[in-house]
Amino acid sequence: MLGAMQDFDLRVTHIIDHAAREHGAREIVTRWADGSETRTNWAEVRRDALKMTQALRRLGVGKGDRIATLAMNHSRHLVSWYGAVGVGGVLHTVNPRLFEDQLDYIANHAEDQVLLYDAAFKPLVERMKPRWKTIRHFICFDDGEFEAWIGAEDGNTDWATGDERDPCMLCYTSGTTGNPKGVLYQHRSTMLHAITGLQPSIFDFDARAVMLPVVPMFHAASWGLPWSGAAAGIKFVFSAVNDAAVLCELMNREKVTHSAGVPTVWLATFQHMDATGTTLPNLRHAIIGGSAAPRFMLERLMKAGVNVAHAWGMTETSPIGTTGAKSWDWDDLPFERQVDIKQMQGRVPFGVELRTVDLGDPETVLARDGKTSGALQVRGPWVIKRYFQAEADCVNANQWFDTGDVGIIHPDGTLQLTDRTKDVIKSGGEWISSVELENAAVGHPAVAEAAAIGIYHPKWDERPILVVVKKAAMEISADELKAHLAQSVAKWWLPDAIEFVTEIPHGATGKISKKDLRDQFRDYKLADA
Ligand code: AMP
Repeated sequence: MLGAMQDFDLRVTHIIDHAAREHGAREIVTRWADGSETRTNWAEVRRDALKMTQALRRLGVGKGDRIATLAMNHSRHLVSWYGAVGVGGVLHTVNPRLFEDQLDYIANHAEDQVLLYDAAFKPLVERMKPRWKTIRHFICFDDGEFEAWIGAEDGNTDWATGDERDPCMLCYTSGTTGNPKGVLYQHRSTMLHAITGLQPSIFDFDARAVMLPVVPMFHAASWGLPWSGAAAGIKFVFSAVNDAAVLCELMNREKVTHSAGVPTVWLATFQHMDATGTTLPNLRHAIIGGSAAPRFMLERLMKAGVNVAHAWGMTETSPIGTTGAKSWDWDDLPFERQVDIKQMQGRVPFGVELRTVDLGDPETVLARDGKTSGALQVRGPWVIKRYFQAEADCVNANQWFDTGDVGIIHPDGTLQLTDRTKDVIKSGGEWISSVELENAAVGHPAVAEAAAIGIYHPKWDERPILVVVKKAAMEISADELKAHLAQSVAKWWLPDAIEFVTEIPHGATGKISKKDLRDQFRDYKLADA
């Protein structure tokens, strides 16, 4: 026997229908790269997304097709999210900070059909066009092109229908070894994630909220904000440029109550505030994630009366995993203890399950004792099962996904991250592959062995350093090696320092032991840190 309730499919187009119907006049403000500003609202976003759906159909783009965007945060990008899923397609948000070989790989691997891009990326798009084999249509968001494209339609159409398990969005992550990997979200997983985001401990949205998301729409689905924000009918304030002065001015003028970004963004905001005496009196909820939030940042926001949600998550978890939810006795705790708790990565909302297992033996589940650290695993309805186009699942038989993070779970479920097993470095919220840096380094004839590790940096959270063993009787300077690396990796990937050593530690299997190397360089100070 089945239950006798309605089969209301959990498709994300219901979210924009709700936003337009119940919160239609709520504003969406965009401050564009050229300094101009526009205002639209949820009703217009829905109408424009329907028009885009018609325009896509006219191009022969439909169910399951990948529609890529290469764009900053703005209202047309928001329209394109709903337009792409509305035609039954898969929205693929491409990260413009990746370098060209990765952009080449990702768009071809995703088999993107259409690319919508900001005028600022035009030179990049022109360079990449011959390398992107599957993209048939290029549409610029600016210079009237997007508006003319959708403006030819009347919006009098319906969303594509289908199964709630159909794919709706594809995000690649380079937070793994090897080529970037695609995470293919479903309508259902995205809808459940969007509803979860509405909890007070996560986005704390009601219809009064005014959110300026600094987290880009191209990184981990902007933490799901375009979906959750529509579900709650909030006002969005977007800025297509990430400049602290612009952000602070917008936050005060538009009375922004909520914002979200990686620690680097908050730091830049603080610096601007200190230099100019600016305050943010309307801000009441700050979401910080993507990297560990430093203590002084939490203290400063909390002292200013801002509720801080220090969150952990991954592209593979849609991305909400944990946030700094308040415990029942929160109000009775001394301030210092509250900061201690916020400094950890927080607790899961309903839907996410976490456990730690022994680093050498994934079958041994560790106690939630607040002491023992192990490999962090996660499962739940918005957690990955298999990377896009991979042949095998990336979870074990019981659906546990190994995050590559290492942490401790406290008896009350609070997660405290302590390390990482994945060999990547996170700088300003974006990934740098240690392996690619090392491969580029050993490509130099004077380098015998090289290992890249992340070192704490107050602005970027981590910056890479490269530890190098020279070949016997060979000479090379740090500058020469840097110039060599610059030929194969993006400028912002170049190590902040190169340290020449006689030996790099190895583990039992002969592999470089990054753990020992990180221990060796634990107190290392970068010149500008
Ligand atoms: P991404 O998929 O790019 O969002 O990166 C996810 C990874 O970022 C996680 O697996 C962690 O390694 C790291 N991360 C995310 N949030 C935090 C946090 N609050 N503290 C420390 N590391 C974090």
